[in-house]
Amino acid sequence: MGIRVIARIRPQQQHELGKDVIVSTASNTESASDQPTLVKIPNPKNESEDFTFQFSGVYDHTATQQQIFDNEVTPTIKHLFNGFDVTIFAYGSTGTGKTHTMRGSKTLAERGVIPRLLSGIYRRARKIDKDSGGKKTVEITLSYYEIYNDKVYDLFEAPEKRTLAGLPLRDNGSKTVVVGLTERPCENLKDFEKLYDQANVNRSTSATKLNASSSRSHAILGIKLAVTTGDEVRTSIASAIDLAGSEDNRRTQNGKERMVESASINKSLFTLAKCVEAISQKDARVPYRESKMTRILSLGQNNGLTIMILNLAPVRSFHLDTLSSLNFANRTKRIEVREIENEPVFKLPPRAAVPSISGPSIQRQPL
Ligand code: ADP
Ligand code: MG
Repeated sequence: MGIRVIARIRPQQQHELGKDVIVSTASNTESASDQPTLVKIPNPKNESEDFTFQFSGVYDHTATQQQIFDNEVTPTIKHLFNGFDVTIFAYGSTGTGKTHTMRGSKTLAERGVIPRLLSGIYRRARKIDKDSGGKKTVEITLSYYEIYNDKVYDLFEAPEKRTLAGLPLRDNGSKTVVVGLTERPCENLKDFEKLYDQANVNRSTSATKLNASSSRSHAILGIKLAVTTGDEVRTSIASAIDLAGSEDNRRTQNGKERMVESASINKSLFTLAKCVEAISQKDARVPYRESKMTRILSLGQNNGLTIMILNLAPVRSFHLDTLSSLNFANRTKRIEVREIENEPVFKLPPRAAVPSISGPSIQRQPL
């Protein structure tokens, strides 16, 4: 069903106060809605000129966790219960708010997309159960794994049990499955929170053991729904992904291990970008087989919905990484050569409607 790409610009952090803010938002004058859809950032080679990028939605530092969830994620829950897969990514450099967006923190107001999604799923499941007088039941099963250096590790397993080789993949009909991945039935939000917290501890423990950082792995939470009516079972999966930092580690790191890491992070994010582009342009061929992550997620298959949240920092120290994030779905590294007429490339979907096909586009802003 397509891809919706939105941008979220985080607030300045304490130590950034007083620093130069270079990223701003704007509404599209051709759109009926006041919701900003444009992000502006100076051309690093000519600061008197701005680049403008267009998304399905743009959120600035004032956006709350609740707003992001209500506007972008709530509409997908219905689809999930109708048997469609939903995939939600947080993309961006380290320190731009991916984990904040996906996981958030413990206070109710600061809970991220993931706990809110689970809460919404359990609420709907209980309602279905009740309304059908128990004739229709919903079972929820979780998996949680990370992909580090293109290897898959189970986060529901204690780090000691990890083998360096990771878990193998196997093609199973039209789907690719991770062989040996733990699947945990989980009946309520409270149990989810326990499981999820422990798994996140596993994630940072094993990163520390490898002398790495969890910002270099992709963390993928799979929420499998099985809706049973009589002898018919309909399954669907929501995947919530906190991606590895998209910064170019080659700029700052040069050890051999870091180079291997960078190469595999860059390759999987590059493949992801190609898939996003292919899906948003309705290409018949989506190159999802080119990385483990995209293969497991079967992006572009099964008529699913994908939401990409581009996390951005507002300050100058992130300038080049912000530009490359903004640019990633276009795959074109040299955005200067891609001039596009100053008109929306993709139709803007109505607000809070079903996410529809719309990728980011670049417009060169005339002075
Ligand atoms: P990432 O996971 O992309 O590396 P984090 O989510 O850890 O980034 O965010 C970096 C810092 O910025 C954290 O201290 C986080 O709490 C803060 N932060 C990020 N986004 C927001 C936001 N929308 N509101 C308030 N603080 C934020
Ligand atoms: Mg993080």
